[in-house]
Amino acid sequence: MFELIHTSQSSLDATRKYIFTDTRQNKTVEIAYIDKNDGKDIICVPSQSGCDMGCRFCHVTGAGIKTANLDSLDLLCTTDLAMQEMPMHQDRTLLVSIMGCGEPMSNVDHLLRYIRGMQQRFWQQRPIRFALATIMPSGCEHDFLDVGHYVSRFDIDLKIHFSMHFTGEKIRDVWMPWAGGIRPSLDLLRWYRSSTGRAIEIHYTPIQGVNDQPCHVEALISMARDIPVKLLTFNPVPHEKYTPSLHMDAMKATMDNAGMTVEIYTPPGRDIGASCGQFDLQYYPVRRTQ
Ligand code: SF4
Repeated sequence: MFELIHTSQSSLDATRKYIFTDTRQNKTVEIAYIDKNDGKDIICVPSQSGCDMGCRFCHVTGAGIKTANLDSLDLLCTTDLAMQEMPMHQDRTLLVSIMGCGEPMSNVDHLLRYIRGMQQRFWQQRPIRFALATIMPSGCEHDFLDVGHYVSRFDIDLKIHFSMHFTGEKIRDVWMPWAGGIRPSLDLLRWYRSSTGRAIEIHYTPIQGVNDQPCHVEALISMARDIPVKLLTFNPVPHEKYTPSLHMDAMKATMDNAGMTVEIYTPPGRDIGASCGQFDLQYYPVRRTQ
């Protein structure tokens, strides 16, 4: 049984975050409400409680939260509880963004049931869309194909965001130890787009002096000119000394000139860890010392 134990409000924007726990199952669920005033109510939902993918740039890594899959009932129940607290606008599209804590491909079956449950629940009330961010972990090919087939079968509007972040396999292995190969992942993404007709996008987080040099941009252009890119502002993590790139405008200009679709995006609710792979950092240090 999940219980709402903490609510936080960003001091930077309208983002809110709701933290639930089920002490019997030892699971934690964080769900964020994001209002960009762009005609959508966005809810950011995790795929797992904790995550063991070990990405070095991620706030979840080292947060000390036990990793456990969230089943579809966990997700439906906490989403329902969170939505009762959120300032929803019934005339807006509902975007369910599975970009909180966890790796979706590690929990595909439950996530698909959750997505289908949300679609059935809301499709007569308001337009509903879904998005999912994945690092495309090694060995996920079969599960990813299942996602594509499921989306086609039930006509689900699901955009896939590929957390790429690096253009070389060696450095990506260091920063994202469980991620699969870049080129095979891009091929799977293209398959998803052509077989389902749904959108895909690359997430790339430039880190100063690490992956933000002209050679990285050229490599990105040569590998993925046909795929839209979002350049995400890096939110520094406590366990690494790295800082956000100062070259994001130049990177975007080069990609613009190459004819790519590229956007610089600063995730909302950064002070409460409300975006992709983030936890509420102000909350857990307190919990860990109790
Ligand atoms: S970025 Fe995503 S997959 Fe990587 S550790 Fe964080 S939550 Fe897990």
